[in-house]
Amino acid sequence: MRICYVVAMVAEAKPFIERYGIEEVKDFFAPLPCMLYEGKVGDLTLDVVLNGQQQGSDLIGCEAATMATLSAIQRLNPDLVINSGTCGAFCANGAEIAEVYIGNGVMFHDRRVPGDNAWGTQSLGNYPVWEGSRQLAKTLGFKMGKVTTGSSLDMQPCDLDIIQQNGGELKDMEGAAVGFVCSLLKTPILYVKSVTDLCDSGAETFEEFSKNLSRACEALKVANERVIDYLKGQISTN
Ligand code: SAH
Repeated sequence: MRICYVVAMVAEAKPFIERYGIEEVKDFFAPLPCMLYEGKVGDLTLDVVLNGQQQGSDLIGCEAATMATLSAIQRLNPDLVINSGTCGAFCANGAEIAEVYIGNGVMFHDRRVPGDNAWGTQSLGNYPVWEGSRQLAKTLGFKMGKVTTGSSLDMQPCDLDIIQQNGGELKDMEGAAVGFVCSLLKTPILYVKSVTDLCDSGAETFEEFSKNLSRACEALKVANERVIDYLKGQISTN
């Protein structure tokens, strides 16, 4: 079994790249900026694809995530894609900083396209998640939530309206782009998201994000070790 993580920021991936001692496969995606780390964990092949950098900073957002996911699936043909990273969440839903969630759905919240239902529906996305997500969350005791993706870190009132109308809970900048590509290429996708900030706390998002980033990424590493152990167990019982 081959699992492929798609991760936006080095800070999000580094703790578990180091934990598994997996090595960079240099220039694998050249001339694209995406980076591949690969290794074995028992019978499992573990790939971690990072979006890469431009102008000295990590490529976050949907365009980079689309490119990385498409390249990863076409070149590596994984059995499962895992989009792991940080997100904003809501106090109103009982979320806390550094809490890790498994995604039970995924949508876009900043593609406002008036017109008929077909365009509106396509703009929202609502792509399928891996059918084993619920059992994994239940077995490991993770909460579940719907990932909601947009191109900005802040949240405008019109974003919040769409999030509330469609049950969005875990606000990020890549999830739905990864899900879009997975839906086209029929590759199952699991979301593992750690909370850096609470969108309804009244705090300034970037400050809260920066303050909590390393704590949330440490929690993400611990969660991903449990996810990987669970998936390893699934292969050995199959
Ligand atoms: N300039 C920042 C980059 C972080 S942007 C830096 O210097 O570190 C936010 C990243 O974290 C994105 O990849 C996004 O997926 C995630 N994220 C965390 N909280 C978010 C929120 N409230 N809204 C949107 N994305 C969020």
